[in-house]
Amino acid sequence: MTSRKVLVLPGDNIGPEIMQEAVKVLQRANELFDLNISLDYAELGGAAIDLYGEPCPEASLSKAKYADAILLGAVGGPKWDNIDRQLRPEKGLLAIRSALDLFGNLRPAIMYPQLAHASSLKPDLVSGLDILIVRELVGGIYFGEPRGIRVLEDGQREGYNTYKYNESEIERIARMAFEAAMVRDKKLCSVDKSNVLEATVLWREVVSDMAVDYPEVELSHMYVDNAAMQLVKEPKQFDVIVTGNMFGDILSDTAAMLTGSIGMLPSASLDKNGVGMYEPCHGSAPDIAGLGVANPLATILSVAMMLRYSLKAPEAAVAIENAVSCVLDSGFRTSDIHTEGMTMVGTVAMGDAVVAALRLS
Ligand code: NAD
Repeated sequence: MTSRKVLVLPGDNIGPEIMQEAVKVLQRANELFDLNISLDYAELGGAAIDLYGEPCPEASLSKAKYADAILLGAVGGPKWDNIDRQLRPEKGLLAIRSALDLFGNLRPAIMYPQLAHASSLKPDLVSGLDILIVRELVGGIYFGEPRGIRVLEDGQREGYNTYKYNESEIERIARMAFEAAMVRDKKLCSVDKSNVLEATVLWREVVSDMAVDYPEVELSHMYVDNAAMQLVKEPKQFDVIVTGNMFGDILSDTAAMLTGSIGMLPSASLDKNGVGMYEPCHGSAPDIAGLGVANPLATILSVAMMLRYSLKAPEAAVAIENAVSCVLDSGFRTSDIHTEGMTMVGTVAMGDAVVAALRLS
């Protein structure tokens, strides 16, 4: 079997702690399913600034370009907050996504029945929730030029950004979303603001035109303000949501909180060939770094996504997801998802429990 190369970027603060557990689970899956995975390591974010003076050094980027998949912890923290904006750890994230053209961000929001009480919504509104948000990741207003802060003739300053998408950018993300809907409940909701923004008038037209290629998928359109409201009012109406970079950023965090804890949510960022970077949805949590209490499950579930989407090992992905469910059934909880009567465990014990629960079928 050809070797599958995974590049590991632990990142900053809790990044290395949660990554250690995710790698432990990946290595056990590698043995059990004979996956022939080889691991390499590099720096991104603050760790890269400390070593190379920049958040996304060429040394890390060139390793990333040769990998079949990348597993990232999280980057950033107060240690690097006062350096030049262009050199901040978060710039490293944007740089690697952009350099690898990782345009398709898949963010599932799945409610584990064991955690229904942890949601801020009533359990009947969220039990069984399973939404996939497909967010365009390398275009839109976060990358559009011109941008900046300029001084006007009257002396006051003006901040400005550019929101634009061309047809091919819209088409490729919409295709990813239609394909995802095809293997789920075949419902796709495209979110825009076409009552106000011309860029999203085009978005709506292009997505609508593509629907002829997917007659089995029920396509709907929704304005972003309504989508935000519907997500907290009746979230189970959604199956797959596709949207641009900024709207996706906001809606996916909202959907994340419906499930109780951001410490449970994985994500994938894919290029056109299915090569991808996998990371938890949360940040580097400097407030709990070094305490051994961070929840590693979002990163472990990111390993499952990586096995499914980039490494074509769906059986190993399912085994990891089942192992996580089994550990939750056993009552193990890190502090972010802990409730009375459950067994509180730290980061390492949670990783060990998932490894112990991992089975061939
Ligand atoms: P955060 O997600 O790091 O933390 C928000 C809250 O959630 C904190 O109370 C934290 O303790 C908790 N939390 C997060 N992950 C957890 C986990 N696995 N287990 C238990 N609790 C967890 O967001 P923030 O505080 O806004 O950002 C901290 C740093 O992370 C900043 O430097 C920010 O720029 C960076 N960040 C990085 C990424 C990324 O690497 N993709 C994403 C978001 C934020």
